Amino acid sequence: MKKQYKILLLAAALTALISACQKEGVYKTLIITGQGEHNWEYSSPVLKQILDGSGMFSAEILKTPAKGGDMSAFNPKFSKYKLVVLDYSGDSWSDATKAAFVDYVKNGGGVVVYHASCSAFPEWKEYNEMTGLGGFNGRDESAGPFVYVSRDGDVVVDDTTKGAAGKVAERSDFEVRTLNTEHPITKGLPVRWMQASDEMLGNLRGPGLNMEILATNSPRMQFRRAPGAVPGGQRQAPPSPRFEPVLMAIKYGNGRIFNTLLGHADEGGGPAMQSVGFIATLLRGAEWAATGAVTQEVPYDFPTAAGTMLRPDFVPVTIDKAFKEIISYDITKSTKYYTFIRSQIAEAGDNEQVLLDIEKRMVNVLKNPEATAEAKKLLLRELSWMGTDYCVQAVKDLSSNPELTEAVDFALTRLQK
Ligand code: ZN
Repeated sequence: MKKQYKILLLAAALTALISACQKEGVYKTLIITGQGEHNWEYSSPVLKQILDGSGMFSAEILKTPAKGGDMSAFNPKFSKYKLVVLDYSGDSWSDATKAAFVDYVKNGGGVVVYHASCSAFPEWKEYNEMTGLGGFNGRDESAGPFVYVSRDGDVVVDDTTKGAAGKVAERSDFEVRTLNTEHPITKGLPVRWMQASDEMLGNLRGPGLNMEILATNSPRMQFRRAPGAVPGGQRQAPPSPRFEPVLMAIKYGNGRIFNTLLGHADEGGGPAMQSVGFIATLLRGAEWAATGAVTQEVPYDFPTAAGTMLRPDFVPVTIDKAFKEIISYDITKSTKYYTFIRSQIAEAGDNEQVLLDIEKRMVNVLKNPEATAEAKKLLLRELSWMGTDYCVQAVKDLSSNPELTEAVDFALTRLQK
């Protein structure tokens, strides 16, 4: 009878745990980086921070081998993830990895193509179909027509003028125009809004199949160089007469791809990545790519045509910061520090040294009289599956706290199996 009761209790607790996880809707996300002319060392941690900080995604960063390295060693298990974010424009992947990525997307996987990643893989047909439009790295008319919006507001998809694809405008604040106000990603956004200090890409070409242009820049951009097309990067082109796409949504097989040209990175991210327009569209595009829907409200600080809007306090979380902040967690607060700690556990894989370090930090929170019961509950939940003998006494010591009885029983049941 007693054993049966225990099993029932465990089943109930597991059900509660599973429903709690589902309610959180945390989508496993893989950020791929490791090569490219851009500041990927700066941008990838910020992308992870933005995604994790939303509470909707739990992202890990995977670096490819360095340029010229053995790419046959790069074989991510794409199917483990709901979303893959590309911050990459380097060496081509192995045929097997390319095929696995195509399978992943065809089978419904979500992809975000971030900023310079539209320049990756000029030779890879399926990749160019997934991104819709791309530029640089020798792309020309063989990549497809130029696609843009004319000054009169017509979407032009058949400009087969010869020439290199990809140009970069002087870095500046610029206006973005929401072209598609019905798509889930851009629904509810202002028609005109300002992006801060970004490096605008344009003159892109591509197949543009199953693609919707969601937003464009304003046509008053001065191009200065075309990397890959014009060696030396000399001044080269007149102002573009076009509205160039900056946000695109593409369908490929059962998969969805969000291609954002925004968000050029400086050290620590910088103003373009701190721009609310970049952050909010990235999160909305990521959710759409992962699920096909967008449940997020347009944030109150979304910019308008009147000016840029930054979140300068957006600094990457460290493990020290996460454990310092989590002690004051309660259910009305953001779970971002808890999400960060969970992401660190996931990243540790089976590295026992790293896991033990995290477990010790968790035990310190359990022992801390100033830590809230809600914080301790979250950590008991984690320890119940990843804890070792190290944490057992600290867990037992909490059993006298009536607020924690249930969480302690649950953790001990699993820890002592
Ligand atoms: Zn850039």
